[in-house]
Amino acid sequence: MTLNNKQIEQINNQIRRLLKSDSYYGKMYKELGIDGVTSQSDFEKLPFSEKNDLRNAYPLGIMACNEEEIVRIHSSSGTTGTPVIIPYTAKDVDDWATMFARCYETAGITSKDRIQITPGYGLWTAGIGFQAGCEKLGAMAVPMGPGNTEKQLKMMIDLQTTVLTATSSYALLLAEEIQKRGLADKINLKKGVFGSERWSEKMRKRIRNELGIELYDIYGLTEIYGPGIGINCKYDCGIHYWDDYVYIEVIDPVTGKNVPDGEEGEIVITTLVKEGAPLLRFRTHDISRIIPGDCPCGSRFPRIDMIKGRSDDMFKVRGVNMFPSQVEDILKQVDGASSEYTITIAHDDDNNKDVMLLTVEGEGRVSFEFMSKQILELFKSLIGMTPKVIVVPIGTLPRSEKKSKRVIDYRNS
Ligand code: ZN
Repeated sequence: MTLNNKQIEQINNQIRRLLKSDSYYGKMYKELGIDGVTSQSDFEKLPFSEKNDLRNAYPLGIMACNEEEIVRIHSSSGTTGTPVIIPYTAKDVDDWATMFARCYETAGITSKDRIQITPGYGLWTAGIGFQAGCEKLGAMAVPMGPGNTEKQLKMMIDLQTTVLTATSSYALLLAEEIQKRGLADKINLKKGVFGSERWSEKMRKRIRNELGIELYDIYGLTEIYGPGIGINCKYDCGIHYWDDYVYIEVIDPVTGKNVPDGEEGEIVITTLVKEGAPLLRFRTHDISRIIPGDCPCGSRFPRIDMIKGRSDDMFKVRGVNMFPSQVEDILKQVDGASSEYTITIAHDDDNNKDVMLLTVEGEGRVSFEFMSKQILELFKSLIGMTPKVIVVPIGTLPRSEKKSKRVIDYRNS
């Protein structure tokens, strides 16, 4: 997806804004002598920005306007170390709400809908984003926040809410609760808008079946406004994103070079009109691809595919990119497989090719031979390559207190 002239102009405005400020990136750009871009190749030479920069600039070092203009901050929790703080101007907040309202519209939600908002409010960008978009659209917000399932169900029934917004795991919990209590015919939900965390098709199917609703995946991250920069339409073939607010490129996470449209890689986002905290070429570590061509819905907005995983977890064997999450999805479909497995990758010098060995624990109910045959077939059809598979009795693989190390790669040692 190449930059159009308008986007190049917008990027130059973002660069001018940074240079004018005494911000973290303003200083960096001055030092590097960057004062603008005139072409795609110019742009692709700009340095990437990273979550680590934002940590270094903590708390307000990335602010690229006068402090009087900042009306709000948000923060991403960050599982380790210093959190990241993103300052917003009034226009940033308004732009975000506009994008979010557009997400709701793309999902066919209108001012007649009643939207039950269960993501958390506060420093996190979730709840307040869902709320602001809802108000911008003119729908009725039911601002619940997370938890208190009893009250969630009561409001859902008494107010006959038509849209549920939630994390996928909370949506599943509510769906199960509704099923268990036999409330399915008392609710009026038509649609669910869920955060685009990676979730399996199995989970989607369960939520869809138990609640009988259409599902929409909303994309976004705190560093770039928050959720709301894109969503799938009813044709469910990728996420439309708002290219008048963000420019998306896809890079090879190892070389940092752009990959052709349609090819998988890491999503890198550039804000086009942000005031409080413009970010150029921000590495999201989310793996996806640009979907070439037009969507059957006729929208002019380009699409990325569903987020497949995190680049930090990706491994490559014989030219095929894979994620532990894909292996887990496969194992979930195999009767008798436990959740424990390891992947060992090495280079076979004699045959000059990489070999991948998948060791899976079998519970013993199903023959190990049958299991490995099934695993091989699923690998072939879903991932497009076949590893060597060994099934071992349960308890064979080492357990660890910490998150188990799933992939052992001997190729570079
Ligand atoms: Zn579409």
